[in-house]
Amino acid sequence: MRRVLLQAAAMLLCAAMLFCGGCGESTESAEQSDSTDAAEAVTKDVFAMDTYMTLTAYGDGASDAVDQAVDYIETLDAMLSTGSADSEISKLNETGSAVLSSEAAGLFARALEIAEATDGAFHPLLYPIMEAWGFPTQEYRVPDAAELESLLQLTDLDDVTLDADSGLVTFSKAGMKADLGGIANGYTSSLIMEIFQSCGVTSGMVSLGGNVQVLGAKTDGSDWRVALQNPDGTENYLGVLEVQDRAVITSGGYERYFEQDGTTYHHIIDAKTGYPAESGLQSVTIVSEDGTLADGLSTALFVMGLDTAKAYWQANSSTFDAIFLTDDDMLYVTAGLKDCFTSSDYEWIVIEEAQ
Ligand code: AMP
Ligand code: MG
Repeated sequence: MRRVLLQAAAMLLCAAMLFCGGCGESTESAEQSDSTDAAEAVTKDVFAMDTYMTLTAYGDGASDAVDQAVDYIETLDAMLSTGSADSEISKLNETGSAVLSSEAAGLFARALEIAEATDGAFHPLLYPIMEAWGFPTQEYRVPDAAELESLLQLTDLDDVTLDADSGLVTFSKAGMKADLGGIANGYTSSLIMEIFQSCGVTSGMVSLGGNVQVLGAKTDGSDWRVALQNPDGTENYLGVLEVQDRAVITSGGYERYFEQDGTTYHHIIDAKTGYPAESGLQSVTIVSEDGTLADGLSTALFVMGLDTAKAYWQANSSTFDAIFLTDDDMLYVTAGLKDCFTSSDYEWIVIEEAQ
């Protein structure tokens, strides 16, 4: 089991390396390292929030920008991580009531907003169920139906209140627990872009375990090229996106899972059942200017499945685009990406706007 997870981590690192290779950089290890090349690129690799991250910024201010961003990642980790007992979210989960910092409260509010917009497909209160499956500790087990049924009682979105002024979050049932893991990566990458901009950087990128957000264009004015990982872990990438100022965030059952008695159980839970979502999708990639939205929707649209996700995109196509890989290896690409996506290995079907 552990070997499976290590392989998954290595695959994600590979995705980040391919991305950097495409823009003239390389990530050599998971250790923190600095490098400055002739094009005034500054790159730093860090392992934080349970993820390998690569930050690259170009031009004046790049060094400061990357340093500030790395510092800030630690702040966010201490705020949001369910894995560290001292984080704001962990304290909330322990006591069922806590005053969050304005930043954590703002992200919590955003998570609730995305939950409402996606009819609970994105759901920030599933931590008791994640624990029952053993995902946080990696002590995996398959809970029985009665246990899941009782834990589902702790996931009603009506049982949480958030006071926007004070940041006070209160759960009305003992045992309720929040999990912002489905949104934290994208929130982090979008903040890194803001830090880069505040340091005067106009060209840069960050990869968090293969989830990418880019600022501006490359220094030669061309688009960033972001390769999409194939869930089978091979170097047959699903395709390449050419983008500027976008987050490109993927959710897939292959990212974290375990096997028991010949069945694979992954980490994206359907809040309606408590079981890993079986939606007929292998992966969903969301492309958006808004990293937080992209992350929330990557999880939500994975849970929804192709038909519901397609309708959701058609109703919200001004805010994001998406790429879906189905269980039967069909690739679907929303119309907004048809001129910036290429694939040498896959034929793909365009999802058009609603008539
Ligand atoms: P992502 O990789 O962005 O899809 O996030 C997956 C992580 O989000 C999981 O490891 C859980 O911590 C959490 N999660 C699982 N299921 C959901 C869900 N339906 N909605 C929101 N977060 C979820
Ligand atoms: Mg997500």
